[in-house]
Amino acid sequence: MILGALEAGGTKMVCAIGDEKGVIIDKTIIKTTSPDETMPNIINFFKDKKIDAFGICSFGPIDLNRNSATYGYITTTPKLQWANYNIVGTIQEAFNVPIGFDTDVNGAALGEATYGCTRDVLSSIYITVGTGIGVGFYHDGSLLHGMLHPEAGHIMLKRHPLDHGKSVCSYHENCFEGLASGTSIEARWKRKAYELADEKLVWEIEAYYIAHAIINYIVTLMPHRIVLGGGVMHQKQLFPLIRSNVKSMLNGYIKTPEIQDIDNYIVPASLDDNQAILGCFKLAMMELYNTNSQIK
Ligand code: ADP
Ligand code: ZN
Repeated sequence: MILGALEAGGTKMVCAIGDEKGVIIDKTIIKTTSPDETMPNIINFFKDKKIDAFGICSFGPIDLNRNSATYGYITTTPKLQWANYNIVGTIQEAFNVPIGFDTDVNGAALGEATYGCTRDVLSSIYITVGTGIGVGFYHDGSLLHGMLHPEAGHIMLKRHPLDHGKSVCSYHENCFEGLASGTSIEARWKRKAYELADEKLVWEIEAYYIAHAIINYIVTLMPHRIVLGGGVMHQKQLFPLIRSNVKSMLNGYIKTPEIQDIDNYIVPASLDDNQAILGCFKLAMMELYNTNSQIK
């Protein structure tokens, strides 16, 4: 079986073909410009490859409601050329095969849960800390959506006492993305995040915010494992800081075996930046075999 994967991002489109075992046979990166320019390049990569099903995971917001007239669209994105764009319909028209569709972070959560570091647990969360912050929620074969896909990068946090900077989120003064995304680190310290590796306070504040968010996800959903990916998480010194902050913020309230073994509870992404692509393969299979838990 040949599966097609499209990880649609605001700066680049990652396209891959592979099989159900998660083997990537071919992969290319196409720059995201306008739909008129970018989509024909994507279609060109996939054509003649005899794709049986596609998985697409995309930047958002996107419409995942199968009963909606705009299902499969990128909706109100600030990347205006892509606002109200029917990305699933465009691929459907070109290839006429089943297409699974979800957010980029849900795709990453699914990739890790199928082929990566959360495949041995029932429920997991994938948090990406990059230009923005997104969170994907996986439970027992399904990805969580409600009236919309989760936007858990926008939960409200208590300010770190030494942080007097401005939030970079145009909607919220104190949300996770506004205070802890790569964009916000660079706005606060006026340097590229990777140049700040030796600045202790930068990562103390960052770990505080990430741990604060994680506490909220833990007490709400009790996931069996939490994965952290995205550009900012290349700063490996964050992991021990986050784990110790989580322990102290929980203050002994949750005493599961997972929390006791926190080094295996809060972990880095494991699939060499292919987690969302591999998640797309799984989305494609779910669509093909109709194992998606959503009502159609
Ligand atoms: P995107 O979120 O756009 O898909 P990334 O996950 O690579 O892409 O995130 C980019 C952000 O990550 C940038 O804002 C930058 O601040 C940050 N970043 C990238 N590399 C590093 C690094 N080595 N250390 C710290 N921050 C980094
Ligand atoms: Zn916000």
